[in-house]
Amino acid sequence: MSSYDVDLFVIGAGSGGTRAARIAAGYGAKVMVAEEYRVGGTCVIRGCVPKKLFVYASRFAHEFEDAAGFGWSIAGTSFDWPTLVANKDKEIARLEGAYRANLGRSGVEIVAQRATVEGPHAVRLADGTRLTARYILIATGGHPNLGPAIPGRELAITSNEAFHLERLPDSMVIQGAGYIALEFACLFAGLGVTVTVVHRGARLLREFDDEVAQRLEAEMRANGIAIELGVTITGIHAEAGAKRVSLSDGREIVAGEVMLAIGRQPNTSGLGLANAGVELAANGAIKVDAGSRTNVPSIYAVGDVTDRLQLTPVAIREGHAFADTVFGDKPWTVDHSLVATAVFTEPEIGVVGLTEAEARAKGYRLDIYKTDFRPMKATLSGRATRTFMKLVVDQTTDRVLGVHLIGEASAEMIQIVGIVLAMGGTKADFDRTIALHPSAAEELVTMRTKHASSDLPEQSAESTPAI
Ligand code: FAD
Repeated sequence: MSSYDVDLFVIGAGSGGTRAARIAAGYGAKVMVAEEYRVGGTCVIRGCVPKKLFVYASRFAHEFEDAAGFGWSIAGTSFDWPTLVANKDKEIARLEGAYRANLGRSGVEIVAQRATVEGPHAVRLADGTRLTARYILIATGGHPNLGPAIPGRELAITSNEAFHLERLPDSMVIQGAGYIALEFACLFAGLGVTVTVVHRGARLLREFDDEVAQRLEAEMRANGIAIELGVTITGIHAEAGAKRVSLSDGREIVAGEVMLAIGRQPNTSGLGLANAGVELAANGAIKVDAGSRTNVPSIYAVGDVTDRLQLTPVAIREGHAFADTVFGDKPWTVDHSLVATAVFTEPEIGVVGLTEAEARAKGYRLDIYKTDFRPMKATLSGRATRTFMKLVVDQTTDRVLGVHLIGEASAEMIQIVGIVLAMGGTKADFDRTIALHPSAAEELVTMRTKHASSDLPEQSAESTPAI
């Protein structure tokens, strides 16, 4: 008989916490999970899922325009924001129910309260209840970083509020150049909002391949999004139904909404971690080893709160590995390299592995393969968009170290490419694969010309695959 109230107490029913709770319960552990907001966490409630639904909504605008070149006349289209928000809310409520049901079926008890840590084996619920646990898993995720306390900051929204705006503004200023800022910029622009992106740095998507980031910037500008680099928002002032935004270079922009998307902060403040002596990094993230264990043997942490890779599938993997290792006697750790990821901008980005700059910094001698083409659909639609693909190849072993795509369906492609890279795929493996024609993906297996990094890729006039 255990001397603890539960075998596992999970704080946070998001991506990582729910997976860990379910798997641990499946091994026979007595599991409780505390959630202070809504079961499902950021991804389901106010992250990946509602965001992708909004992205789908925003893409109809281009689809309608493109249809004309294919003979369609589409007159009288209109968009109703409240319908989108209501339908999205219904779907999110359905998903939350599914998460709850899955936890229930697995025998996990959900406690709808905030929980904090009291010691290596003790937690305190918001109603005052104290519980003991053999293991505690911190899976509290993160929240939007609001940046410096500029005047009027409280007038700005973050991604949290963007999902619940009562009305769609005519115009919006978005500060940030990470994937969340840019995805919202593109989706709001697609819905007809006049968008200005403001970023203190010189380029978008700092951690992505330079050329992919440059191409996204050019395409966003071509889609009518203003991008102001090298400036920050220094103040926000309310005025009749709008907000006046002051920029660090002295200019002002009047917009319906202002959104701050300048990164996310781990949820560790006020969590009582000091009571147990859990070590934090300078940014407040919980320090863990490869097995997600903190410096306190009974306390583990997974997901965004550890600030490794802030992605849902990564949090899920970490939660699963924790439960298998601690409760299933099947130890394994998560490989954080070669995680395929996408940016659902217009056009979208898909990447896996090392960027060219990262590979060079690691000392690899590289062969770079690139292609830049007009997608077949654009030939009739007339849309001025291009697809760009880049393979970063280790010259010594021929192994493909990184793949970087920007263009339609990049997210779907990169998931599959991720398998190839995980298997140690070489450029020769790509080359001997017969192309699937006609597709954009076939360009991945028909790249023959090596480029010095500064070369411009071939600019084929149209998508003209090697047939
Ligand atoms: P979360 O899912 O954030 O769950 C943490 C939970 O803990 C929350 O429900 C919170 O309410 C709860 N909690 C916190 N403190 C306490 C406490 N003291 N007591 C009780 N409960 C507590 N990732 C992708 O892979 N693809 C995407 O397309 C993508 N898009 C995103 C878009 C946006 C706008 C955002 C914000 C994020 C996006 N992400 C995406 C990231 C993804 O949502 C996170 O990586 C993922 O949710 C992390 O899971 P987690 O389990 O670490 O934390």
